[in-house]
Amino acid sequence: PSSMREVSLEVPNVRWSDIGGQEDVKARIREAVEWPLKHPEAFERFKIRPPKGILMYGPPGCSKTLMAKALATEAGLNFLAVKGPEDEIDAIAVRRGNDAGSSSVSDRVLSQLLNEMDGIEALVNVTVIAATNRPDILDSALLRPGRMDRILYVSPPDYASRLSIFKIKTLKMACTDDTDGYSGAEVVSVCQEAAMMAIEEDENILTVSQRHFEAAINQVTPRITAEMISFYD
Ligand code: ATP
Repeated sequence: PSSMREVSLEVPNVRWSDIGGQEDVKARIREAVEWPLKHPEAFERFKIRPPKGILMYGPPGCSKTLMAKALATEAGLNFLAVKGPEDEIDAIAVRRGNDAGSSSVSDRVLSQLLNEMDGIEALVNVTVIAATNRPDILDSALLRPGRMDRILYVSPPDYASRLSIFKIKTLKMACTDDTDGYSGAEVVSVCQEAAMMAIEEDENILTVSQRHFEAAINQVTPRITAEMISFYD
């Protein structure tokens, strides 16, 4: 019996396009897993083996799990998810002897994980994807090349990534366009008004925020009426 608490075969349905931005991380993950599948002869030519493990680390909620799921979906791989409160990699793979209270348990589970990863040598096309918020407490044995070969920082989304997340999310949402029916000039006027409101709040302000836009939309009344539109029909 495995000491992994919960192991499930999931069929995730996350596409790369569902993940906003983070293009570098996407590319690094894809090349590690897709290249060996697509170009086995190139790996053979240079006598290199595909990366065996990918460890993503970074703050919570920044798309590590999404990345693993998108990889499985897009590459048509089986996604063998190992999780549960005791089985997050940072809970099972803390440096041996680090966690005084339950060290014997985590030591045992870590040894098993390392053994299983070494055992993957014989298996072709198996990649271990792991994610943690605490790379600092992972046992260095796990980080050795040949185990977690590729260590990727998944940062909080930058401006372009955040914009992209907004776009993806609003595409799939029933949104009210609060400026529906506004003329181009009125949209410009909303922007003007939003900036004025920001300045009113603080004359040294450097950015105009969503709240300013919301307030501005309430100030600018669209003048094009349904009657005016029907005039052109
Ligand atoms: P944790 O370290 O807490 O496990 P995580 O990095 O694995 O977090 P995810 O589970 O991938 O984070 O992301 C949480 C949720 O946030 C996702 O289900 C998704 O709704 C949203 N999300 C995070 N990043 C993105 C992104 N770049 N594009 C779209 N949605 C995102």
